[in-house]
Amino acid sequence: MGEYCSTCGSRLEERYLEKEGRKIPYCPTCEAYRFPLYNAAVSMVVMNEERSKILLIKQYGRDRYILVAGYINQGENAETAVAREVLEETGLTVSSIEFNKSEFYAPSNTLMINFAVTVTSECVHANEEIDSYQWFSIEEARARIASGSLAEKFLIQYLDKNDKDETWKRRKLE
Ligand SMILES: [Zn+2]
Repeated sequence: MGEYCSTCGSRLEERYLEKEGRKIPYCPTCEAYRFPLYNAAVSMVVMNEERSKILLIKQYGRDRYILVAGYINQGENAETAVAREVLEETGLTVSSIEFNKSEFYAPSNTLMINFAVTVTSECVHANEEIDSYQWFSIEEARARIASGSLAEKFLIQYLDKNDKDETWKRRKLE
C-alpha cells in the first residue's frame, strides 16, 4: 500500500470518509482522498469450439498446470484484455467469451477476473511466456489443474456451474 500521495509525494494520513463509512488515505497537500491502488488481471478457461477440451499451461519454470492469464493494460477493458492475452500467449483467436467469477488475490494486490472462452482452433503457437501446454478433456483438466491455486478455484467453479446446466450436459454428450 502506498503511504505517499501518487500525485505530489506528500505523506498520506488516514481520514474518515462518511460515504465509505471507513478511513481512507488522504493527502493534506492536494486536499484529496487517495484510494489505494491495485492491479487488475484476467484469467481464462480456454476451451475448443466444441467445449470438450480445456487448454492448461505451465509457466515461470513451475511444474504445475494453470490457466492462461495476464494483466489488464491501463485504458483497456477486461474483454479486450482476454482476447489480447489469449492471442499473445497462445496464438489462438477467441470466438466467445463468458464471465465466470472474480476474486481479489491479496498476495499480488490484484483483482483477478475470470472468463470462460472458446477459441477457433486447437493449434497453439505458444510464446516465450509459456513453458509448455496441453489440451485436456474436461475431467482431466479438473484433475490436473494446480491444486490449491486460484486457477483451480476458478476452473472448478466454472465446471461445477456447468454440470448443473442441462444445455452444457447435452453439449458434452454430442
Ligand atoms: Zn498530494
